[in-house]
Amino acid sequence: MAATLIDGKAFAAKVRGQVAEHVARLKEQNGITPGLAVVLVGEDPASQVYVRSKGKQTVEVGMNSYEHKLEADTSEADLLALIDQLNNDPSVHGILVQLPLPKHLDEDLVINSIAPEKDVDGFHISNVGLLGTGQKSMVPCTPLGCLMMLRDHHGSLSGMDAVVIGRSNIVGKPMAQLLLGDSCTVTIAHSRTKDLPDVVRRADIVVAAVGRPEMVPGDWIKDGATVIDVGINRIERDGKNVLVGDVDFASAAERAGAITPVPGGVGPMTIACLLANTVTACCRANNLAEPEGLTA
Ligand code: NAD
Repeated sequence: MAATLIDGKAFAAKVRGQVAEHVARLKEQNGITPGLAVVLVGEDPASQVYVRSKGKQTVEVGMNSYEHKLEADTSEADLLALIDQLNNDPSVHGILVQLPLPKHLDEDLVINSIAPEKDVDGFHISNVGLLGTGQKSMVPCTPLGCLMMLRDHHGSLSGMDAVVIGRSNIVGKPMAQLLLGDSCTVTIAHSRTKDLPDVVRRADIVVAAVGRPEMVPGDWIKDGATVIDVGINRIERDGKNVLVGDVDFASAAERAGAITPVPGGVGPMTIACLLANTVTACCRANNLAEPEGLTA
C-alpha cells in the first residue's frame, strides 16, 4: 500500500478529547453543562445501536444525554409537541431526531420543527441555507468530519479539484458546499453522471458517498489523490459478514496519496462531530467563545 492511511478512529478520539476539555471548562468557569437530546421513534435495530452509541459518547465527554424513546405508532402531533418542549428547554442545547422515521411521519416537517440553533444534525432548512450562503450554521456531522480530516491532512484545500460522488442532502450536497467554502473546484457526480471514471480521474480529492460496495476501483484514482470513503456497506465475503466502503480499498490505496479505511475512517468522525456541534450550539446559546477547530 502506497497511500497514507487517514485514521478516523484516532482523529475522532482527538476531537472527543477537545470536546471534553471544552465541556470541563464550561462547567468550571460558567456552571453550564451542554445537553444533547436524542429522539428515537420505533425500534429499528440499526437506529437503536446508533442512539445507544451517541448517548454513551455524550456522557463520556461530560455532557448530559437525554434519550426519548417513542413508540413506532407515535402521532405526528405528539412528536412535534416533544420537539417543542425540547426547543424551549434551556438545559437542552442540541436536538437530534434519529432517521429514518416511520412512514406515517413527515420527515421534513419534523426536522424543520427543531429550533435551527439546536439542530445539531444540520438538516433544518435554515441551516442548509446558511451553509449554502457561507454563513455560520450547524453543519451536518458526516461531511464536517470529512472536512476536518481533509484540512488536517492538507492544511489548505484552496484550488484543489474535488469530486463528490453522491448528491444526498445529508452527505453529498453539504460536502460539496463545505469544499467550495474551502475554495476547492467542486464537481458533484451522481447516478446520471456521464463517464464517471474520467470525472473521478481529474480529482485531487475524491469523496465517495454512494452506498455501493467497492464501486470505485483504483484505476479511477489519480496518482496521489486523497480519497475519503463515506460508504458503509455490509457484504458477505468468504462466508463472513464484513463492512466495506464505496471504494475498492486495496486497489485505490496503490494509487492514492492518502485514504480513509472502512471501518475506522469517516464513521467514527460522525459521532465525534455530533458532540462537537453540541458544544458549539451550547457556546452560541450562551454567547460564549466557540471551541476552535471544531466547526467549518
Ligand atoms: P443516498 O442513497 O441518499 O445517496 C446516494 C447517492 O449516490 C445518490 O445521490 C445517487 O445519485 C448516487 N449514486 C447512486 N448510484 C450511483 C452510481 N452508480 N454512480 C454514481 N452515483 C451514484 O446515500 P447517503 O445517505 O448519501 O449515503 C451514502 C453512503 O454513505 C451509504 O453507504 C451510507 O451508509 C454511508 N453513510 C455513512 C455515514 C458515516 O457516518 N460514515 C453517514 C451517512 C451515510
